[in-house]
Amino acid sequence: MSKVVVKNSDFDNLPEAISGIFEELNIDLKGKSVLIKPNFAASVGPVKSAITDPRVVKAVLDECLKQTDNVVIGENPGNMDTGAMHCIEASGMLELASDYYENISKEAEFVDIGSKIIPNAFLSKKISSVDYVINIPKMKTHVLTGVSCCVKNLFGYVVGAIKSRYHLESKSAKGLTQFFIDLYKYKTPYLNIIDAIYAMEGGGPTHGDTRHVGKIIGCTNGVEGDAVITKMMDWEPRHIHGLVMAHDQGLGEIDIDKIDVVGDFEVLPEFKRPPTFDKIHTEFNPYEEITKITPTIDESKCTVCQLCAEESCPADAIDFEPGYANINTDKCISCYCCVEFCPEAALSVEYQKDFYEIA
Ligand code: SF4
Ligand code: SF4
Repeated sequence: MSKVVVKNSDFDNLPEAISGIFEELNIDLKGKSVLIKPNFAASVGPVKSAITDPRVVKAVLDECLKQTDNVVIGENPGNMDTGAMHCIEASGMLELASDYYENISKEAEFVDIGSKIIPNAFLSKKISSVDYVINIPKMKTHVLTGVSCCVKNLFGYVVGAIKSRYHLESKSAKGLTQFFIDLYKYKTPYLNIIDAIYAMEGGGPTHGDTRHVGKIIGCTNGVEGDAVITKMMDWEPRHIHGLVMAHDQGLGEIDIDKIDVVGDFEVLPEFKRPPTFDKIHTEFNPYEEITKITPTIDESKCTVCQLCAEESCPADAIDFEPGYANINTDKCISCYCCVEFCPEAALSVEYQKDFYEIA
């Protein structure tokens, strides 16, 4: 049984918290090359809690440097190249550790990751070339997957805008989740450090609400880390499809009573669920049915920047005929990439009773 270490932490005692996690998990990086993989997927500052706080990344970097100097920080945000740099700059990471940042989107390769969903995945070369990945996800809700943390963050192994395309090729939320699991199996992080100083609740992954949690969580098993995060959100891990799938494929325990959780674990009361999940009180939800819900537009917020159509939508489902973003419901595959990347939060996913209530 692996350990999940939960530490009360804020920015003033981060180094001690990270150091303590390394010690409790017996992290040994001597002689190893390491890629630190945060979540800088959206071009917003950390204040929005959509991305890993760069101060957490810097504290992990400093701890790694005590054991090896072969460390880089790298991430593949959703957009290509200049978009990727924009996300990195917006994160504030370059001010803290520019010498260790590498644009890993520049060199990519097709890799057979043993996935039936996306057999040849377009990944940063860095993923295959380093000994270890240290994964630093944010504790967040997600309108499509319920929870976004250790396993979901590995979608960032995939380079740039092709991620949207993979939503389409995966055919359903279930297929996409299997692809995340396949990425996890292909290059399982050696260590996960979850940034839960500020978490995102409600309509994550980019337009939810910030909640101060004041914790840093470390684990070597990302599935078990995700199960603990889910329980902290006052949500049963067995109600999250991705966790059930990962468990059934032998990747980790999701029954919180069977996980060795040490430290400052607590359940956060009334942690807000995504609007796509928040009315579900039943044992199971109709996962595939989520793919039938089309985002809605707040016309007054739309600036017609066209980012949703040009950089996000894999299904060519958006036009601007009425003078704002208009989604063709027949073409839309409900991947919610447009919702995630709209800089104005003009798109949202609403709860739809018919799809979620189970008799
Ligand atoms: S919906 Fe958002 S991303 Fe799309 S055009 Fe309007 S403001 Fe831009
Ligand atoms: S309109 Fe939005 S949710 Fe629908 S397919 Fe395009 S990006 Fe995905």
